[in-house]
Amino acid sequence: MEDSVRNVVIIGAGCSGLTAALYTARANLCPLVLQGHEPGGQLSLTTLVENFPGFPEGIQGPELVDNIRKQAEKFGAIVEMKHLVSADLSKRPFVLRIGADEVRTRTLIIASGASARWLGLPSEQALIGHGVSSCATCDGFFFSGKEIAVIGGGDSAMEEALFLTRFATKVTLIHRRDQFRASKIMLDRARKHEKIHFLTDTVIEDVLDVEKKEVTALKLRNLKTGKAWDLPVSAMFLGIGHIPNAKMFEGQLDMDAEGYLKTTNWVHTRVPGVFASGDVMDRRYRQAITAAGTGCMAALEVEKFLEEHGQ
Ligand code: NAP
Repeated sequence: MEDSVRNVVIIGAGCSGLTAALYTARANLCPLVLQGHEPGGQLSLTTLVENFPGFPEGIQGPELVDNIRKQAEKFGAIVEMKHLVSADLSKRPFVLRIGADEVRTRTLIIASGASARWLGLPSEQALIGHGVSSCATCDGFFFSGKEIAVIGGGDSAMEEALFLTRFATKVTLIHRRDQFRASKIMLDRARKHEKIHFLTDTVIEDVLDVEKKEVTALKLRNLKTGKAWDLPVSAMFLGIGHIPNAKMFEGQLDMDAEGYLKTTNWVHTRVPGVFASGDVMDRRYRQAITAAGTGCMAALEVEKFLEEHGQ
């Protein structure tokens, strides 16, 4: 990577980062986008997106994010498969360490998104990739003709459960409460599906069988009755939310108790010239369209900042 100072670097190549790239590229700022471990972000792990305006028939998530990338690249954005190791935001230009390379930049947009949350059970961690997964679209196919479980009570869990009915003979949706965060339309669809069975007020105490290196059953407990039992399944899919990817900015930027970047006026962090957009700062809306929206805002703020402080 070259030694000169860039106008803008964007961390993250999901819907938000790539929208920021599109806008800053069209402003001739030649943005560098670091796409990290999860290129495409959450959209690349989803199926049909029915609520992104402009697509009356819906659009596949990976196709949508790929289109935004191509659109940004058409105007000069550079998207690289590189991972940010550390950032020094104490003075401008900011210094980013990317593997063995160092990149200096006048402005930074953090659009690093959020990654899947896990239950945290040792057995769950040991069986990731052996029947435990957080990505139905990636791994569902491997459990064709099997019975599987989906954990969670939000839209992600409903979407995963519905998607997995394509492969599984039975999907048991397990939620720790009897109230759901999922939107009514998604919850109704899941409830109506003949292959989906609901278990509420139920928690997972263990995943079997670590010794066999495969999922054979879940040890469950009903929180209201105290009843404990084993549910035989071949896979467990997590749909219990996400954790913002902002740890590398600890101590330099403000975060809330759950690690989301705190911003003022939508996208301003406390460091002038550093902006945040998308799921890494948005704990409330977390939609593709809002991620794109804040990515656009961050890009416009970068333009304004560079006009005021010089390129
Ligand atoms: P979410 O709405 O935060 O729901 C997470 C669910 O996981 C909650 O039901 C929560 O239970 C449960 N949970 C969290 N930690 C848990 C733990 N340690 N053990 C057991 N259960 C746990 O997250 P999401 O479903 O990923 O949705 C995030 C956002 O994306 C939402 O705004 C959603 O609308 C959007 N989304 C939209 C679509 C769509 O429209 N097609 C698809 C996916 C996501 P509690 O309720 O008890 O806290």
